[in-house]
Amino acid sequence: MRISFAERMKGMKGTSVRNKLFDDPMLISFAAGKPEGKLFPADELIPSVIEILQRDYQEALQYSDTEGIPDLRSLIAEQRMREAGVRTTADRITLTSGSQEGIEMSAKIFVNPGDVIICENPSYVGAYSAFEAYQPSYVGISLDEDGMKMDELEQALKAHPEAKMIYTIPDFQNPTGIVMSDERRRRLAQLAAEYEIPVIEDCPYGDLYYDGDRHPAVKSFDEEGWVIMLGSFSKIFCPGFRIGWVCAEPQILEKYILCKQSSNLQCSTLDEKIAAEYMRKFDLNTHIEEVRAVYRGRRDRMLECIEKYLPSGVRYTKPHGGFFVWLELKEEIDGGELLIEAAREAKVGFVQGGGFFTGPGHENYIRLSYSFVDEEQIEEGMRRLGLLLKKYY
Ligand code: PMP
Repeated sequence: MRISFAERMKGMKGTSVRNKLFDDPMLISFAAGKPEGKLFPADELIPSVIEILQRDYQEALQYSDTEGIPDLRSLIAEQRMREAGVRTTADRITLTSGSQEGIEMSAKIFVNPGDVIICENPSYVGAYSAFEAYQPSYVGISLDEDGMKMDELEQALKAHPEAKMIYTIPDFQNPTGIVMSDERRRRLAQLAAEYEIPVIEDCPYGDLYYDGDRHPAVKSFDEEGWVIMLGSFSKIFCPGFRIGWVCAEPQILEKYILCKQSSNLQCSTLDEKIAAEYMRKFDLNTHIEEVRAVYRGRRDRMLECIEKYLPSGVRYTKPHGGFFVWLELKEEIDGGELLIEAAREAKVGFVQGGGFFTGPGHENYIRLSYSFVDEEQIEEGMRRLGLLLKKYY
């Protein structure tokens, strides 16, 4: 069939997280950045779903506001945004289908073909695939242990005054697990105002801190409204609801609402009601504390296993939260080839790192996720990975 697809489809790629290699039931996979399903609060949710439908099924199953039901938007403003250090109100919140939709809409709103997006390098592959439809070019900013380097960012802003937005994941970044220091968050908000460029702050992992306190969002330092924050229930509650949100000034939010309306009208009314009911009846923060305790244990176990099983030449990040550890292997190791060998022979999976970078190269990096595997599996999977890697060191 000779079928002609639009130019915008050219750069769009699927993610290797959904690799067929991982179908083997014997394989232990550190690939998926999925939350642990056993943590979903089913016992609390099941009676709520029945109650909501019995109370008013016609409303719960009907169309509702594009922005989301007012109750949930208020709860997000009062609870989730407050946790992030942001004082805001429901009229500055609109719901999205996860923060993924917020990422895609951001490019739709700000980026013309050929425009520059500034982002961390490496950054979330799912963001590149969402951005690709809008045919941008990228300027990548490197990270150190305090997150995106602000001096490099400022140079990039000077060199590319035409850049349209800065995309950042300040909290336990995907793929590196690095958290941005509070000082840099403040600086980022200042630079955005100085250079008059929107910052898309993608924040699905902000509540998943395992050491110390939560970092205030970049948005909390935003005085003029240049920061657009994307939140999500996916990692702290249930990703299946597909509920995320955008917090921005009304003039900007209006554009996100238009995008939502034209692409899918709204999120699911029923799911919004279930989430709001849960937040009214139970304490989501208590649930998040329980979730954090489980992931903290997994993070600790994975770091211990890296020390115990992996060759000492492997460099790795030590995340203080989130789902990921980022490994730098010997330069001659190709993460993609290693993955095939790992999945077929060692029965262990991960994500090859090359795709997280804005340009070619960097094939000697891999991403490990500890969120979806229990501690026993982490121990066994890392033992397998260690045996495989020892062949190369
Ligand atoms: N941003 C980042 C950095 C992510 O890691 C993910 C999920 N892997 C998302 C956005 C999308 O999450 P969701 O749409 O489920 O909120």
